[in-house]
Amino acid sequence: MSHLAQHDSELFTILEKEINREESTLELIASENFTSQAVMEMAGGVMTNKYAEGYPGKRYYGGCEFVDEAENLARTRLGELFNAEYTNVQPHSGSQANMAALMTFLNPGDTVLGLDLSHGGHLTHGSPVNFSGQLYNFISYHVSKETGRVDFDEVAQLAKEFQPKLIICGGSAYPRFIEFEQFREIADLVGAYLMADIAHPSGLVASGLHPSPMPFCDVVTSTTHKTLRGPRGGIIMMGKDFENPWGKVAPKSGRVKKVSELLDSMVMPGIQGGPLMHIIAAKGVAFGEALKPEFKSYTKKIIENAKVMADEFLKLDYQLVSGGTDTHLVLVDLSNKNITGKLAELSLGKAGITVNKNMVPFDERSPFVTSGIRVGTPAVTTRGMGKLEIQQIVKWIDQVISDSENEENFSRIRLDIKTMCSSFPIYKNI
Ligand SMILES: *Cc1c(COP(=O)(O)O)cnc(C)c1O
Repeated sequence: MSHLAQHDSELFTILEKEINREESTLELIASENFTSQAVMEMAGGVMTNKYAEGYPGKRYYGGCEFVDEAENLARTRLGELFNAEYTNVQPHSGSQANMAALMTFLNPGDTVLGLDLSHGGHLTHGSPVNFSGQLYNFISYHVSKETGRVDFDEVAQLAKEFQPKLIICGGSAYPRFIEFEQFREIADLVGAYLMADIAHPSGLVASGLHPSPMPFCDVVTSTTHKTLRGPRGGIIMMGKDFENPWGKVAPKSGRVKKVSELLDSMVMPGIQGGPLMHIIAAKGVAFGEALKPEFKSYTKKIIENAKVMADEFLKLDYQLVSGGTDTHLVLVDLSNKNITGKLAELSLGKAGITVNKNMVPFDERSPFVTSGIRVGTPAVTTRGMGKLEIQQIVKWIDQVISDSENEENFSRIRLDIKTMCSSFPIYKNI
């Protein structure tokens, strides 16, 4: 870091503040994690300098022999990790991965089913402010009020009524396993393609602790930076490649035989230019880590910690959407606690606990206010925290939420958290 310190003290100081924030507060945002120093070394390395439009062996630029090796290795490792015949590691983010997949399988105006954003879906699953909602005719399905789980009667009814060309399963605030098999049955009933977006649980899927979408879904997308603990980015996979059923033409390559070729060409040149080779290589490092047995012990602890967290909340009379969790996240409905998601997020932030406000199903408040918070255990588990720490964390959260005006309390908790965090350092020599 000495280069940056000498070269640009302004940004160096900002970076130092961020390092200090990450080290000394509790990160409970379910979509965040701390990637390894090996991943960061690759992500911060010289491959950022390289232009490599195209794919390994078929680039539009010279000098790609080593980035080709990196991308090929990343693809192979990813295929092994998820048991996928086809992999694409170039999407810059989860949203880009979804855009490329949707644009491959659909034409503008086609009908799609996706989980409603306020019921745990994602912007790219048909929100009117996102490309997905603007390009396609999205129909939202929901979770049931009683169970907090996807209402499959409604999914089946909507599928029959609207005859979607594709159904998306998965979301950003769904605490339970994604029910790939049940979605497949409904997709088959109406001849729809099935796409899984496993952005959130992909690390758990990779370890076999969450069911795999591969046997049931035509195409699977994910981020690499959530439970998978890699650098920020996206990926696309297919369990099995299949013949191009639409006679679709790929940008630049013309008529092609396989859907894999369509996906590749939709990522580049369809929606992206030069790939982020430093990030692709860093994804490869993360996939290598995820293939090791230690990663499975890690993801097992994520789930154990989330279950402890859910139990502690229930003991303190908190309402949890779906009554608990199968995964890394807990969605807390604060309706009976006399506080909005917005105020809870703000107050917890002052106390050194980072969460995000989140709509709960059937929320009567706006997305800017909300009645809930989403909390997750991937990041605190990475720094080594376990049952005792999680129990203490829930106590702190409850103290803040029960007395959300008490600034003195926040300062005291913030100090206690700083002390606890110092026993669980994230990075050494940084
Ligand atoms: C996080 C997320 C994404 C998007 O990822 P970005 O990298 O932020 O674009 C897509 N889908 C789901 C379900 C997500 O949770």
